[in-house]
Amino acid sequence: MKVYNTLTRQKEEFVPLEPGKVKMYVCGPTVYDYIHIGNARPYVIFDTIRRYMEYKGYEVNYVQNFTDVDDKIIKKANAEGVDSKVISERYIEEAKKDAEGLNVEPATKNPKVTEEMDEIIEMIKTLIEKGYAYEVNGSVFYDTKAFADYGKLSGKNIDDLEAGARIAVDESKKNPMDFVLWKPKKEGEPYWESPWGQGRPGWHIECSVMAKKYLGDTIDIHAGGEDLIFPHHENEIAQSEAANGKPFAKYWLHNGFINVDNKKMSKSLGNFFTLREIVEHIPYDVVRFFILSGHYRSPINFSRELMEAAGAGLDRIKNAYKSLLFMESKAQGTMTEDEKKLNEEADKFRVEFERAMDDDFNTADAVTAIFEIAKFANVNVNENSSKEFVTAIREKMLMLCNILGIKPQDELKAEQISADEVEALIAERTAAKKAKDFARADAIRDELNSKGVVIEDTRAGVRWSYK
Ligand code: AMP
Ligand code: ZN
Repeated sequence: MKVYNTLTRQKEEFVPLEPGKVKMYVCGPTVYDYIHIGNARPYVIFDTIRRYMEYKGYEVNYVQNFTDVDDKIIKKANAEGVDSKVISERYIEEAKKDAEGLNVEPATKNPKVTEEMDEIIEMIKTLIEKGYAYEVNGSVFYDTKAFADYGKLSGKNIDDLEAGARIAVDESKKNPMDFVLWKPKKEGEPYWESPWGQGRPGWHIECSVMAKKYLGDTIDIHAGGEDLIFPHHENEIAQSEAANGKPFAKYWLHNGFINVDNKKMSKSLGNFFTLREIVEHIPYDVVRFFILSGHYRSPINFSRELMEAAGAGLDRIKNAYKSLLFMESKAQGTMTEDEKKLNEEADKFRVEFERAMDDDFNTADAVTAIFEIAKFANVNVNENSSKEFVTAIREKMLMLCNILGIKPQDELKAEQISADEVEALIAERTAAKKAKDFARADAIRDELNSKGVVIEDTRAGVRWSYK
């Protein structure tokens, strides 16, 4: 399995630190609003990478933080006249609902800044003791000049950065590139006690602390959107490697942006759509499928047309799968010799799928492999196929869908009627038709329709599905 490592700027063979185990840290959202569709991309991408690693037999310890101390959260809390916690807890819950909607597996742990304050203070203390940080009037800054490797992830040179930096905004910093680890309390802001007085941490320190606490000094994969490469991830490396005296992350993975009119979708540009707005028109699973239809490192444009195209693609997969389910319910018997050959041939889709995913998680090609198995099923499975064969093809297709977190079958909604009840009504309708009681037959069709079931009369019998 090859992964593109931002740190080395090349694809590398993935070799975990410990055989069979993967320690993965993904930077999570700042919780002051609903997540937007750009934020949905890292959710879906890194969940898919995790699922693929699990499929390959790795045990993945997946940590994703919630940034619940931040200027934007404080601003919103003050505007609403509530505590910051009210805002952050509200949007943590909403982000979790969106993640569930996108079929993202829950993280092993979702640490929050407010719950890691002792460890944050400890790491800042260590950095000061080791000469990588300094205090000025209740603020603590990281001394970027003290860390020889500063710039290694982003490929930036500290002297160029400084030359380009505007006159130090903060006069108390030794160098313009130094960044804040702890800032003093301001009126109307939440604060914590620390050796440097009351205050709160800067943004970058939380991820160094949480990765260390929940995964260890050195982790396998650190991930996030490409906007985080600099300064956030560069600063995390500076903090963690200075404090721990060990390499921080072996592989750095970054997703490209979701753009609108070729500009990054972001809250600050105002060109964003929250996922909640989108899912009023386009189901979550289509959003997931849309995100997986491109390579994770390439930028993707967001547009209604592309979303609709993704929806049509997903429908093709679902229809092929539904058809297999239907035939499976009617079929009988074991595979013929010809079917055995076809079944073996169908393994090539898994091989193609794996080849794509092993090449830096090329989900676009992996999706193509699923389209191909759907086409294969449409061509080679029919009413005369044996049950064993239909099941085998359906299971092959399902396995690939599961790895990408795509559900080929819509879930039963609570208000829908059970499959047994549907079958009973269909049997009654067939009997009514035989007895030429067409009024009753039509009434049953309408009843099923009102309960979210569509039926179709085919040569092989009545085919039905949930809408
Ligand atoms: P934030 O809440 O802005 O810190 O973002 C949470 C995650 O979403 C980070 O990994 C960001 O890099 C990522 N992200 C933000 N905007 C976009 C976008 N337009 N496209 C892709 N990823 C994004
Ligand atoms: Zn982070």
